[in-house]
Amino acid sequence: MAFLMAVTITAVGLAQDTDLPNVKILATGGTIAGSASSATSGSYSAGQVGIQTMINAVPGIKELANVSGEQIANVGSQDMTVKIWIKLANRINELLASDDVDGIVVTHGTDTQEETAYFLSLVVKSDKPVVTTGSMRSSTSISAEGPLNLYNAIAIAASKEAIGKGVLVTLNDEIHSPRDVSKMNTTNVGSFSAPIKGIMGGVFYGRLGFFREPTTKFGNTSEFSVEGVTTLPRVDIIYAYADMAPDLIDIHVKAGAKGIIIAGVGNGNMTEATLNAAKKAYEEHGVVVVRSRRVATGWVLRDNEFKDDDYHTIASHDLNPAKSRILLILALIEGKKLSEMQELFYTY
Ligand code: ASP
Repeated sequence: MAFLMAVTITAVGLAQDTDLPNVKILATGGTIAGSASSATSGSYSAGQVGIQTMINAVPGIKELANVSGEQIANVGSQDMTVKIWIKLANRINELLASDDVDGIVVTHGTDTQEETAYFLSLVVKSDKPVVTTGSMRSSTSISAEGPLNLYNAIAIAASKEAIGKGVLVTLNDEIHSPRDVSKMNTTNVGSFSAPIKGIMGGVFYGRLGFFREPTTKFGNTSEFSVEGVTTLPRVDIIYAYADMAPDLIDIHVKAGAKGIIIAGVGNGNMTEATLNAAKKAYEEHGVVVVRSRRVATGWVLRDNEFKDDDYHTIASHDLNPAKSRILLILALIEGKKLSEMQELFYTY
């Protein structure tokens, strides 16, 4: 087994079987690594348990793959940072370039898992499987589902079927595309779903199957990269509401935002005054405003109730605000022009 250890990364592993694929687990924290003082308490601290303890909690792991782990971070995913994203992306690209690694599992909190998975799907350049997972119940909870989710994630990462499908998200026996999946419930183990396009596949105690392919570009065909990048441009999200104050846009521009996502009412709408503030933000500061939605599901259509060109706005298509933010960040890194932005939201 190749131990590709960076100095700051802890690596742990099991004895190797040369017939099995090699799967690396990169742990970042979350409830799957959380612990509580009681098995029946809903209160717990995320990101407490280390990667080796998590691996030890999964029976049958040795029959699936040669598994080793690295602790990349140990945070609740509400504290996930751009710095960790870049570290994770670079480490995954480095590991997957090696013949000694066949697949990667990323353990992650559920709160922002869809964001990390979508980000990775656009900047990881490999056909090898990368699977993110987490859990809604902490590792010390009665009926903790983390070990089975991790078992399934390892089975997917070790499988031939997942090759070429980009980054995948698995929880609760489902396999999702990061672009399509969202956390839809604050506490339920069946929290993740893909309301517009549906699930990509299923996994049951490690037996898996896919029902469809991803519908947008990712991985090797993505034009985005964070190689050599140390910081990402600031892109903020503003939640829209009745009688929304337009100066919110000005406040974010003044704070240094290079792009703004509006979690719009209905089909990406906002007050006329806010639309005018968006127009001014682009004309005077070059700040791009994307219209997404505060509604849980549905497309945000270009030129729906007004002409987007009149306000220099971009429609997010089916991307929710958090994922629109990631795409806009990557587009800004690549120096994309406003005229190129709309197409990106259809393509990625
Ligand atoms: N707050 C936790 C996190 O995202 C919730 C979870 O993992 O389910 O890290």
